[in-house]
Amino acid sequence: MKLRRKILTASLAATIIGLSACGGGGDDEATAPVEDSPEFEAGTTMAELAEQGSIVVGTKYDQPGFGLENLEGELEGFDVEIAKIIAAALGIAAEDIEYMETPSAVREEVIEDGDVDLVAATYTINEERALRITFAGPYYQAGQQIMVLTDNDTITGPDSLMENPDAIVCSVTGSTPSQNIQEYLASPEQLVLFEEYSLCADALTNGQVQAVTTDNVILAGFVSGSDGEFKLVGEQFTEEPYGIGIEKGDVAFCEFINETLAAAAESGAYEEAWETTAGMIEGAELPELPEPAPCA
Ligand code: GLU
Repeated sequence: MKLRRKILTASLAATIIGLSACGGGGDDEATAPVEDSPEFEAGTTMAELAEQGSIVVGTKYDQPGFGLENLEGELEGFDVEIAKIIAAALGIAAEDIEYMETPSAVREEVIEDGDVDLVAATYTINEERALRITFAGPYYQAGQQIMVLTDNDTITGPDSLMENPDAIVCSVTGSTPSQNIQEYLASPEQLVLFEEYSLCADALTNGQVQAVTTDNVILAGFVSGSDGEFKLVGEQFTEEPYGIGIEKGDVAFCEFINETLAAAAESGAYEEAWETTAGMIEGAELPELPEPAPCA
C-alpha cells in the first residue's frame, strides 16, 4: 500500500492517538479474493486498470471506522475495505492500491483532474456533485446528526441551535452537512468550517465550538474514541447515501462497481468489510447493501 497525502494536517497525529478504535484494514488482504487475470473489454477503465495492476484511491485519513491512517501508517476503515473489494475484482491486490488523502472539499476536483481512479470517502450522492462526476453505489446509507460534549445538556438536537445562538457549530468545507445545517442556525456566524472533521473534534475538546455536525457514522467513530468526552444528540435529520465517485460519464466502470458490490454482498465480503471496521464501533448495525442508483 502506498500513501500519498494531498493535504497535510497538523492535528492528524493527535487524532490517530485518540481515536484509532478499529482493527480492520491496514495492509490486510481484501475481504474478497483477488481475481486471477480477469478479462475486460478493450478500452474500458477496467481493462486499463487491470493491465496496469494498480489503482489510485482517494479517501479520508482522519475518520475512524471509514478512513483512518493508523499508527503504522496504514489506512483502515469501511471505505478502504470497499476500495479493496473493487480493486480485487480488477485483479489488483491490496498492496498495489495507492491512496491519496482526499478531504471533502476536493473530491470532485481530484476526480476531474484524473489524480485518482475513484473516491471512496463518506461521499454523499447528490445532484450537484453528479453534474461533475459519476457515482456508483450507494454502498451505505448514513444520516446527519450532532455531537456535543457529554456534559452539555442545552444542545439536544438541530432544533435547539436556534435557541442557543452563542453555541458555535463546526462542520467541514464542501460537505453536505455544512449546507444542511444552515436552516437550523440563528445566523450564518454560528457555523465554522474546517477542512477535516478531526479538527472539529479538537475544537469541541478545546471549547472553541459547542457542537460538531456531520454523518452519524463519522460522529460515532469520534464518540467511540473519546473516552466518554463526546456524545450524540437528537435523531438523524438527513439521508446521506454513500457513493463511489468516478470520472463523469464512465457508465461501464460504474456498472462494474455496482456488480462488484452486489457480488460482495452475496459472498459475505461486504459484511466482513463492515464487521472488521465501522461495525466494531459501539452501537453500529450491520447495513444491507442498498439498491444501486442508475449509472449516469
Ligand atoms: N457525507 C457527507 C458528504 O459527503 C459528509 C461527510 C464528508 O464530508 O465526507 O459531504
